[in-house]
Amino acid sequence: MNASFMTKSEFDATIFLLCQTHKCSVTSGFRTQKHNMYVGGHIKSQHLTGMACDIIPDTWPAITQELLAHFRINDIRFLIEKTHIHVYVRSA
Ligand SMILES: [Zn+2]
Repeated sequence: MNASFMTKSEFDATIFLLCQTHKCSVTSGFRTQKHNMYVGGHIKSQHLTGMACDIIPDTWPAITQELLAHFRINDIRFLIEKTHIHVYVRSA
């Protein structure tokens, strides 16, 4: 697995702040191999190392520009999925 630009603690702190600031809830964080397989996660999903999470904004599906701007800072990246936003850390 590639090295991340953030530590686990930095990622957790960033997600916590992001969720507090933008009224989002984490619906999936760290996953075991078994659970990841059950939910159809990628075999090398960053959920397996706790370096990814899925969030749902209270205002879903309306995503504010402020939320998107927050993602652009640091090394956070995101994918807007049908039911949630997959948030992960850019890796080397
Ligand atoms: Zn995800």
